[in-house]
Amino acid sequence: MKGAIITGGARGIGLATAKLLTADGWKVALVDRDDAALQQALPDVPGSIAISADVSQPEDVTRMVAEAKAALGRIDGLVNNAGVALFGPEAETGFAMWREVMATNLDGVFLCSQAARKALFESKGAVVNIASISGHRASTLRVAYGTSKAGVIHLTKQFAAEWGEAGVRVNCVAPGPVDTKLALAVHTPDIRAAYHDAIPLNRYGKEEEIAQGIVFLLSEKASYITGQLLSVDGGFESTGIGLPSLRG
Ligand code: NAD
Repeated sequence: MKGAIITGGARGIGLATAKLLTADGWKVALVDRDDAALQQALPDVPGSIAISADVSQPEDVTRMVAEAKAALGRIDGLVNNAGVALFGPEAETGFAMWREVMATNLDGVFLCSQAARKALFESKGAVVNIASISGHRASTLRVAYGTSKAGVIHLTKQFAAEWGEAGVRVNCVAPGPVDTKLALAVHTPDIRAAYHDAIPLNRYGKEEEIAQGIVFLLSEKASYITGQLLSVDGGFESTGIGLPSLRG
C-alpha cells in the first residue's frame, strides 16, 4: 500500500487531498500543528494516522518523517500543503510577520522535502508543493504571502532538477481562491468581487477540485511530468483584462 505525508492535513485542501488519496488505496499521514483539528479530521480519513508537528521547526520535521515512515512503512508521496496567509500592505508588514509567513510557506517546504529525501528515493516517489496564484502574479497586500509562494514555485524546479536522477518527481499546484478557513480569514468582500471579475469560470474553486490536481500529479498517470506548475484556478492565470465588460 502506498503511503503519503500531507502537511496541513487537518482541514481544507490538505484534508480533501487525504480523502481522495485514501479512496485510491493510499495510506495517509495527516500532519498539522493544530492538534485539535487533527483529531477531529482523523475519522474522516479511514486508516490514516495523525502526526502533530510544526513544519517550520527542523526538529519537528525530522521526528514527523521518522514517525510517518515507521507507521506507513514507505513514503511514496509528500504533499507540502501547510500554509499561512497573513495579508497586509508592505508598509505594515513587519519583519516578524514576514518571517512567520516564510517560516511555514517556504522553510516548511524545504525542510519537509529534505527530511523525506531518503524515503522518497527508496520508493521513487513524488512530491507536490502547494503554491498559489499569488505566487504567479503580484497583487496588493501580499508582499510576504505572494513572495513565499513564488519561492515555492521555484523551489519545486530546484528539487525536480536534482531529484529526477533518482526517479523522484517534484511538481507544484497553484490553487485559485477556495473557501477554506485560510481564505475566509483574508478575503474581504472587495477581494471576493475582484476574484470573480478576474476568473473566466466566474467562481471560487472547491477543495476537492484542487485535490484532484494534486492526486493526479502524485499518481502514475503523471509519470513523465516533473518540475511543472499546474494552475487549478478557473483560468485566472491565463487571462488579462476584459472579462467584466464581456459579462456586462
Ligand atoms: P487552511 O488554513 O484551511 O489549512 C491549512 C492547514 O495548515 C491548517 O490545518 C493549519 O493548522 C496548518 N498549518 C499552518 N501552518 C502550519 C505549520 N507551520 N505546521 C503544520 N501545520 C500548519 O488552508 P487551505 O486553504 O486549505 O490552504 C492549503 C494550502 O493552499 C496553503 O499552502 C495555502 O497557501 C494554499 N492556497 C490556498 C488558497 C485558498 O484560497 N484557500 C489559494 C491558494 C493557495
